Amino acid sequence: MELTKYETQHKHPDNMNNEHVKCLIIGSGPAGYTAAIYTSRANLKPVLYTGLQMGGQLTTTTEIDNFPGYPAGISGQEMMEELKKQAERFGADIRFGIATAVDFSGKQHKVTIDENRIITADTVIIATGATAKYLGLEAETKYAGQGVSACATCDGFFYKGKDVAVAGGGDTAAEEAVYLAELCNRVYLIVRRNELRASKTMQEKVFATGNIEVLWEHETLDLFGENGVEGAVLIKKRGKPDSETVKINIHGFFLAIGHTPNSGIFKQYVELDDAGYIKTAPGTSKTNIAGVFAAGDVQDPNYRQAVTAAGSGCMAAMDAERYLSLNRNNDNRSNTQTETL
Ligand code: NDP
Repeated sequence: MELTKYETQHKHPDNMNNEHVKCLIIGSGPAGYTAAIYTSRANLKPVLYTGLQMGGQLTTTTEIDNFPGYPAGISGQEMMEELKKQAERFGADIRFGIATAVDFSGKQHKVTIDENRIITADTVIIATGATAKYLGLEAETKYAGQGVSACATCDGFFYKGKDVAVAGGGDTAAEEAVYLAELCNRVYLIVRRNELRASKTMQEKVFATGNIEVLWEHETLDLFGENGVEGAVLIKKRGKPDSETVKINIHGFFLAIGHTPNSGIFKQYVELDDAGYIKTAPGTSKTNIAGVFAAGDVQDPNYRQAVTAAGSGCMAAMDAERYLSLNRNNDNRSNTQTETL
């Protein structure tokens, strides 16, 4: 992979294979950058590693209209650039690099960057986000940003008055379909089984919304269109004798088949829920490991909004600061938090 000029300039310093920092932030979405703004203002001299996708998931959305403070909207790319600049203004050291392993067994937390450099940190803020699941069709890549989206609240507005489809049958799909139905002419909900996984309440909302058409036992095979998405090819009752191919005309195709929290490298130490989200003590960003905090989508299966991620980044920064000030003269601290997760 070719690095941009910024990424090349901001790689881990070559002469520094081992380094100790007060606060290490992993991830560069709104949670990570907000944590960097707060911790740098609190003089914790944070080092932030961006991960592969600098700026996180928002850099793949077109326009952000629902982040408070931007009355005219702002592109995802631009907003993340602004957040980065804001963090750098207060001295946050933002570096391009990927956390590839961690060791949270001791008092000093060890994080390996790019497989070969070890940073020890008094506090670690995990803000590695989540990755939307895709079906794996070539067309999803071809039409990325041109009709394919994994976030109705981010991109739904661009399909006002048009026909769209949502793939999935869980709470996210149901919620996105209902949200889109307010804006769009017609919403197809493409469900692979003959029932929804979504909660009863969400199912009732779907069924009560006149312009949502549920396509039971349908799966998406392909998307087509000259200038962006103009339709989808579906298969009904795959593998059954009465199976048939169906075409629908749509301008937007929304994936809502789940997210995968990017928590894999932490799972040996940090408690996760059944879906892999990092567990935090209620109302805080504290994980089960003292001095390790989590913010943003990696610990949030429900809201997953830029503004909630930013809010939780602030919480993590304040929790880290308080942790450091409480433990400044206390070398006997335990490695396990006392809060119940
Ligand atoms: P879920 O895992 O609950 O649902 C995923 C849906 O996508 C299922 O219907 C699944 O089908 C379908 N699916 C998965 N893979 C494919 C595929 N390859 N092709 C077609 N369909 C596929 O994910 P959600 O994001 O909906 O929800 C995650 C969690 O967050 C849940 O616990 C949910 O309750 C919660 N949530 C809560 C909300 C709320 O309370 N307001 C809002 C949103 C989420 P199948 O059913 O056949 O497996």
